[in-house]
Amino acid sequence: MECYKKISQIGYGTYGSAYLVFGQRSKRKYVLKEIHNIKTITQYRACIKEARFLRELRSPFVVSHMDNFYAFPNLCIVMEYCDCGDLSDLIRYFKRTKVSETKVSFYLAQICLGLRYIHSRDVIHRDLKPQNVFLRNDGIVKIGDFGLARKLNYANAFATTLAGTMLYMSPEMFNCSPYNCATDIWSLGSMLFEMITLRRPFENAEDLLLGRYPALRFEVRRELRYIIYWTLQVNPARRLSITSLINNTHLAGIVQKYFPSQC
Ligand code: ADP
Ligand code: MG
Repeated sequence: MECYKKISQIGYGTYGSAYLVFGQRSKRKYVLKEIHNIKTITQYRACIKEARFLRELRSPFVVSHMDNFYAFPNLCIVMEYCDCGDLSDLIRYFKRTKVSETKVSFYLAQICLGLRYIHSRDVIHRDLKPQNVFLRNDGIVKIGDFGLARKLNYANAFATTLAGTMLYMSPEMFNCSPYNCATDIWSLGSMLFEMITLRRPFENAEDLLLGRYPALRFEVRRELRYIIYWTLQVNPARRLSITSLINNTHLAGIVQKYFPSQC
């Protein structure tokens, strides 16, 4: 059995704490999340079920969940460690240097492949935002932070979301209307907009609900404008599907060139 040694604390959320840990047998680093606030056996069962389900997700573009166990009084979830921060760090880096549209397209293609995989397993991420997309130093990008914590303590998590990052939500989620996987497509469009312009598309609820975002500079390449336009459609039925994003846009060329096994 693997033993994990804590190296440092890397996060503290409503659910508990996150640590960078070292696997003594595998000699690799992982992220371990301790979920503190499990109060009832029903909650515990729901969490274990979710954790087991996450372990079944296997894609190069989704953070792998390696292990989960109960260490009284916490449920611990061990996942793959991505060593280069998240997309919000990349956006900060672009602010200091210059946006590279080639890099943005390369990363976008990988996020789409990750999303295609999770949607094919009937999973909706619901909280895609730059802080939940992780980078590795070999250039691989992975979708992470699936809703375990949110499921556990939804009211609390929603409050945090309202304070900070509700503006990545789709209009239908914001409205508490029924939603489907197109909600993730909207969030993808918001992230793309931010990677290119270095600002969020929506700063207030009214703009978000109307899908009213600032005009893009004319230098932004046509292919990226096209994706932004067709992902940030208020009507979810009008948004591009994940398969047409991958097959019918310039991302198809990137996938073919760099990730041929995904074609
Ligand atoms: P929150 O999203 O509430 O900040 P998380 O537990 O999702 O809390 O993350 C805590 C910290 O750990 C964040 O800084 C996040 O970027 C980082 N983190 C989470 N998962 C990973 C991962 N798989 N690889 C690297 N860093 C991660
Ligand atoms: Mg997170």
